[in-house]
Amino acid sequence: MDQILNYIDGKHFEPVAGKYLENINPAEGKTYGMLPDSDAEDVKLAVKAASAAFASWSAMPLSKRSAILLAIADLIDRDLDKLALAESMDQGKPLKLAKAVDIPRASANMRFYATASMHTSSESHFMEGEAINYTTRTAIGVAGCISPWNLPLYLFTWKIAPALAAGCTVVAKPSELTPMTAYLFSKLCIEAGLPAGVLNIVHGLGGKVGQAIVEHPEVRAISFTGGTVTGKTIAATAAPMFKKLSLELGGKNPNLIFADCDFEQAVSTSINSSFSNQGEICLCGSRILVERSLYQKFVDEFVKRTKELTVGDPLDEKTRVGALVSEGHMNKVLSYIDLAKKEGGKILCGGKRVVLSGRCATGYFVEPTVVVGLDQSCRTNQEEIFGPVVTIMPFDTEEEAISYANSNAYGLSATLWTENLKRAHRVAHQIKSGIIWVNCWLLRDLRTPFGGMKQSGIGREGGWEALRFFTEAKNVCIKL
Ligand code: NAD
Repeated sequence: MDQILNYIDGKHFEPVAGKYLENINPAEGKTYGMLPDSDAEDVKLAVKAASAAFASWSAMPLSKRSAILLAIADLIDRDLDKLALAESMDQGKPLKLAKAVDIPRASANMRFYATASMHTSSESHFMEGEAINYTTRTAIGVAGCISPWNLPLYLFTWKIAPALAAGCTVVAKPSELTPMTAYLFSKLCIEAGLPAGVLNIVHGLGGKVGQAIVEHPEVRAISFTGGTVTGKTIAATAAPMFKKLSLELGGKNPNLIFADCDFEQAVSTSINSSFSNQGEICLCGSRILVERSLYQKFVDEFVKRTKELTVGDPLDEKTRVGALVSEGHMNKVLSYIDLAKKEGGKILCGGKRVVLSGRCATGYFVEPTVVVGLDQSCRTNQEEIFGPVVTIMPFDTEEEAISYANSNAYGLSATLWTENLKRAHRVAHQIKSGIIWVNCWLLRDLRTPFGGMKQSGIGREGGWEALRFFTEAKNVCIKL
């Protein structure tokens, strides 16, 4: 098994202090490798390399930059099987999911921004008889990209691709819980001919490496995806230094089922939006709200299908729900199930740790869990659990559904199920979330703005938004 190393100035290095952390395979609950326990010294070297590479990378013709990013995308596709296996072993997700979603999306991210950057244009404003203005957008400098463990390579490339395409150089940090695919990605960057120092990857803990990236004065923009509490720390550190910030944070997303929905579609997609990736997707609809006339029918069918989901070895083709990412996270999820019971919730299915046999006997598995009987304001319905746990609650009117949906500090995404077009527009308009899906879930067009309202973050990723984030506008006014 590969020893993970930092990627700085085009080469792989041991951490300066020579310290390592254990990398655990969550399906087995066992250490299977080591990763650098880097610190501020490693970050300093990475920023130095990124700063040195900035002038030539940002001045490189777009077509040449684009070609390198496209070459990286092709290499990701070539290594699909290897990367998917690494992702599954590191994260616990079903191999099938990593092959179908995570890794294809990583190459799509690279390709999307490699080509998007070729279609940018500058604006010009003509002042009749007086002056002409033109506005340029130039790369902001060294960007810090910090990503979480739930969709490791998918979210890592979602930040790196627009940053590099915009002409920034990057110091990046993947989650310490899922470092493997970022390490494999660094090898692909070398193979694709990415110039030294353009991308630097420093592995290690958030409080050390992540904090050092955010604090470094030469890092001009921070693109972060992770928890809301971490986002607050980052914002507090970066604000006095006037860094540009994009924060993609937590969610507690409502899934609204109206009685006039296509019932089969609503149930089958809600199973996915509840339990895909073990419920460890920031966009999962963990609060299901059902119109009262359909409530019992929906609950019965939803529970029946939840019970049919196979929890098992992530490498097994039949597995729908794999392992949670770590023992600590599994215990957090189980503690929320206890909390739900204490708050008066009734567990209709699931609720316990799953103990498998063989290779996965000490893995971190939890049954998909459905809870009913809770009110909107309880902690179970207010706090992000980020696991295979959903609550289902009835509502009586459209107004009530909207007020329940909005009765939360988060505002990342929402899903609505209705065949009534007017209702769909009306409700979508009133829900305070950055992303609304009507009669679908996780259908993504990479050109659209992506991000949350309220405690779910600031800024938007996706499309032009991300390219704007990594660049600064400059207006030049010329008197005629
Ligand atoms: P986390 O906040 O614990 O960690 C995210 C990253 O930040 C990791 O790389 C971590 O090492 C680093 N970090 C930790 N402390 C830091 C600090 N002080 N300074 C800089 N970096 C630091 O989040 P997580 O547990 O890895 O991920 C789960 C969370 O991510 C959930 O809340 C989920 O909703 C959220 N998430 C949001 C989106 C989105 O697009 N909005 C997508 C995926 C996940």
